[in-house]
Amino acid sequence: MNIESEAAMRDRFWERYQLTELSSREWEAICDGCARCCLQKLEDEDDGEVFYTSIACRLLDLESCRCSDYPNRNINEPNCVHLTPERTAEFHWLPSTCSYRLVSEGKPLPSWHPLISDNGSGQAVHTVGVSVRSFAMLQDGTEDLEDYLIGKI
Ligand code: SF4
Ligand code: SF4
Repeated sequence: MNIESEAAMRDRFWERYQLTELSSREWEAICDGCARCCLQKLEDEDDGEVFYTSIACRLLDLESCRCSDYPNRNINEPNCVHLTPERTAEFHWLPSTCSYRLVSEGKPLPSWHPLISDNGSGQAVHTVGVSVRSFAMLQDGTEDLEDYLIGKI
C-alpha cells in the first residue's frame, strides 16, 4: 500500500502550499484532465513561442482525455514531458488554462476544476469545452502538423 497516496488531501491545499510541498496525491489532483498538454505542438525557432495543434499524442484516450499508458508514458512516448514540482520554471509552454501553470503563477483554479466543482467527477472540464475531447484527433504519423495548427491555447 502506498501510504502517501492514501493520505487525505489537505483543505484547499492548492492555495495554501507550494507545488513542491504537495503529496503525490495532491499533486496528481491538481490536473484538471483537459489533455491539452497531450496535443502536439510546434515551437517558433526564433522566439521559442509554442503553438498547439489539434493532433493528440497517439497514447491519449480521446474519450476520457486520459493517457492510456500513464505509468509507462516516458518509456513508450519519449516526447512526453513529465511534469514535476521542480520544473515549474518551464511551465510557460503549458496551456494558459493548465492548473499546474495557474497554481505556479499564484492564480486561482477555475470554477469548473474537479477540486472546486462537480463533486470531483471531472466532467465539467468537458462540458465547458476546455478539454480536447470535442476536437482532437489521434496522431498517426502521416500528418503535416502545420496543417492542424490551432495557435496558442
Ligand atoms: S494541460 Fe495541465 S491540467 Fe490539463 S491535462 Fe495537462 S497537466 Fe493536466
Ligand atoms: S504519453 Fe500519455 S501523458 Fe504523455 S503526451 Fe502522450 S497521452 Fe499525454
